[in-house]
Amino acid sequence: MRPTWQERQGGQRRGIAHDGAMESLNSAAARTFRDEVRTFLDEKLTPELRRGARRGTSVFLHPDIAVPWQKILHAQGWAAPDWPVEHGGTGWNEIQRYIWAEEYARAHAPSLSPMGLKMVAPVIMHYGTSEQKAELLPRILSGDDYWCQGYSEPGSGSDLASLKLRAVRDGDDYVLNGSKIWTTHAHFANRMFCLVRTSTEGRPQTGISFVLLEMNTPGITVAPITTLAGEHEFNQVFFDDARVPVSGRLGAENDGWTVAKHLLTFERGGRYAPGLASHLALVREAAEATGWLDHDSNRERLAREAIAIDALRAIELAVLEGRGPADSVRPSMLKVLGTEASQRIDLLALDVAAGWDGPLDEAPDAIVTAMPKYLNNRASSIYAGSNEIQRDLIARVVVD
Ligand SMILES: Cc1cc2nc3c(=O)[nH]c(=O)nc-3n(C[C@H](O)[C@H](O)[C@H](O)COP(=O)(O)OP(=O)(O)OC[C@H]3O[C@@H](n4cnc5c(N)ncnc54)[C@H](O)[C@@H]3O)c2cc1C
Repeated sequence: MRPTWQERQGGQRRGIAHDGAMESLNSAAARTFRDEVRTFLDEKLTPELRRGARRGTSVFLHPDIAVPWQKILHAQGWAAPDWPVEHGGTGWNEIQRYIWAEEYARAHAPSLSPMGLKMVAPVIMHYGTSEQKAELLPRILSGDDYWCQGYSEPGSGSDLASLKLRAVRDGDDYVLNGSKIWTTHAHFANRMFCLVRTSTEGRPQTGISFVLLEMNTPGITVAPITTLAGEHEFNQVFFDDARVPVSGRLGAENDGWTVAKHLLTFERGGRYAPGLASHLALVREAAEATGWLDHDSNRERLAREAIAIDALRAIELAVLEGRGPADSVRPSMLKVLGTEASQRIDLLALDVAAGWDGPLDEAPDAIVTAMPKYLNNRASSIYAGSNEIQRDLIARVVVD
């Protein structure tokens, strides 16, 4: 029989770490673990932190909410469940991490910026020197450093390999000239991981290097860009003869594309269902308050989204059990399904909000946030590689 496309890609056979008792979400050990994290979250989440998370409208929460919460998690040793234990991870297996994600979202705990913990940290672990690891990883874990991502440039988004920000070697420094754009939270960050052009020879991909730099470097200017929702979330960052030490490079010179591709798999991977379920719960709460749910057709719309989230959860759990889509398509597939579901929930929230005629300061959270959240979240199908590009990637694997 002809092998399926998934088998041709080597299938998905990672499986969960077997620690005997913790083999499924419903085992006795898993239930005990769920109770433990639920108790912790109930105790540590202050009303301010919960409110900050429930009222969040942007791609990332404001660091005034996210960083203090990270410090609380760090004190408990739970800031980075996905990290290896040697660097400060929890040692939880994949089932435990999924339970953590579900309880975290259910409790409306503030989400942490992924730029440090989930994006640059894994590549520092993989490509960093021992000095880079020793200096940077503890500060990412504790929340002492706040990172931003310098990839996109005017004219280089989907076609990222065409990036032009020039880095010319001068002694022990690179001298940087050019600009980055759409740089989320660059105005809060003290560090950036950045793709720069170190050579114009050969294919565009072969002349790129990956550098880690400090945002207070002379010659770096951060200029705000206001979103459709009227918020200052991202920026254009200009480099005018900014000198960055060569020792800040990650990986070999001109091999930054390899590092960047490694990082993108972390940016796109992930668990979407827990966060979607928590957002839908807020919309449902608002829908009950407005009478929106009294209409059959509205109940049906809400149910349809709940079912879509259940289906996504089933895929995510299948992956934990070593089934599910092949590694080569999984991040793209989950990104498209997850972001499209989140945008449909935004539309539901807008519809519910249209039925609210009371004062806004008394409205349920999902009504207060409906419009800015809808506007800001249009971006989720654009950033981390647009959904059109993800569909292209999936098609290439499936048709191959
Ligand atoms: C809210 C937000 C935050 C962001 N944060 C950051 C950040 O912190 N750091 C960073 O570096 N970047 C960031 N980005 C930039 C993001 O990565 C880019 O916007 C994205 O890669 C798309 O690039 P572009 O905007 O240049 O659009 P373009 O690449 O010009 O694409 C325009 C349209 O054409 C489509 N398209 C392009 N090429 C193809 C193709 N080959 N096949 C089919 N369709 C195609 C795209 O899907 C899109 O719809 C952010 C973007 C947003 C919206």
